[in-house]
Amino acid sequence: MNCLEFRRVVLEEPQQLSPALAEHKQQCKECLRYYTQLQEQEALLMEALAVPVPDDLAAKIMLQCSFDQTSDQEVTETEPTIVPLKSKSKTFRQFIGGFAVAASVMMGVVFWQAHLNSEQQQLTEMFVQHMEHEAHSLVLEEPIPVGRVGFTLNNVGIKAMAELANVTYAANCVIEDKMVAHLVVKTDKGPVTVLLMPHKQFGDEFAEEAKQWQVALNNMKQGSVAFIGPKSLNMEPIQQQVMQSVDVLQI
Ligand SMILES: [Zn+2]
Repeated sequence: MNCLEFRRVVLEEPQQLSPALAEHKQQCKECLRYYTQLQEQEALLMEALAVPVPDDLAAKIMLQCSFDQTSDQEVTETEPTIVPLKSKSKTFRQFIGGFAVAASVMMGVVFWQAHLNSEQQQLTEMFVQHMEHEAHSLVLEEPIPVGRVGFTLNNVGIKAMAELANVTYAANCVIEDKMVAHLVVKTDKGPVTVLLMPHKQFGDEFAEEAKQWQVALNNMKQGSVAFIGPKSLNMEPIQQQVMQSVDVLQI
């Protein structure tokens, strides 16, 4: 244990001293002084933080504000120019001002949320449109060869780590100027379209619905994967299977 190590550790955990630290503290005068000073600072800090707050503080503040409001009104009627009361009315205005700031922050959060939702809704519609554009892919019954699936994935820099079962369609398409791998996986409750887009990161993962479809977006190491399936279907097993079976090679 050297001095540097001692100081680093006691700075992180000033309250707990391991045997090795205690031993070093006994042997090194400089570090002993450092440690003592640190303990004193800690104690001061704890003291400063431990300010007792009366239980009824919130009630008192509310009461004070209502008084301020009343006296403000009285003053305007009788003696509008008295200085001390004027400053009280300022307190009330500050109080209301605080509410206004809080309210505007809340509104900002709400609008941001709405903005995010509309963005996800737009993506959902785009994915559904892409799928419907290749509607023929949804009615295929025969699984295609594993090699063909691997080839389609490889074209966009994705390696198949495990065999994807029941793939009935595999094509390379373009979404927003980037080449993607478009697969359809057959399930007994309907086809699930999988759009693997290693060149496109669409932000947060989400699950949305549009018409009779549900759309889920998952993120890979690089890029995103969109799953589009009938609303009645539990897509999770397919999402899991696909996410575990693919790996992005190089971008
Ligand atoms: Zn496509």
